Amino acid sequence: MKVYSAELQECYLVRLDMGSDLLEALEELAGSLWINMGTIELIGAVSQATIGFYNQQTQAYEMQTFERELEIVSCIGNISVRDGRPVIHAHIALADQTGQVFGGHLMHNTRVFAVECKFMVMSGEVPTRTQDPSTNLYLWNEEVRSGQN
Ligand code: ZN
Repeated sequence: MKVYSAELQECYLVRLDMGSDLLEALEELAGSLWINMGTIELIGAVSQATIGFYNQQTQAYEMQTFERELEIVSCIGNISVRDGRPVIHAHIALADQTGQVFGGHLMHNTRVFAVECKFMVMSGEVPTRTQDPSTNLYLWNEEVRSGQN
């Protein structure tokens, strides 16, 4: 277990632009606001979505793209640092016209129809991602660097 001390600093409410790539827009926002530690929550709708499922045996993401309108039932994630840059890790639950819900790891190529997002900015011991040998994922390691953002 790795525990990082974090303190809530600020909160932003953001409406994303129609047609933008959801993950890219979140990453750009984190980068432009110098947020490298925090959490996000969002709801809305997308015109297409790409989600990933991490296959634990092959240790690779299996991707699925849905080229249709979907509601974002919930999308939550966190902001931390990898290779010196803020990265977003988010999971998304999507519903189709019948109310069927499915979801996975949010990937690029998810197109915003309308999205309302809450960005919670934290300060403290910034979690930094490095490749974890047992999962092959970029996970928070033990190194911590303190400071605002
Ligand atoms: Zn994930």
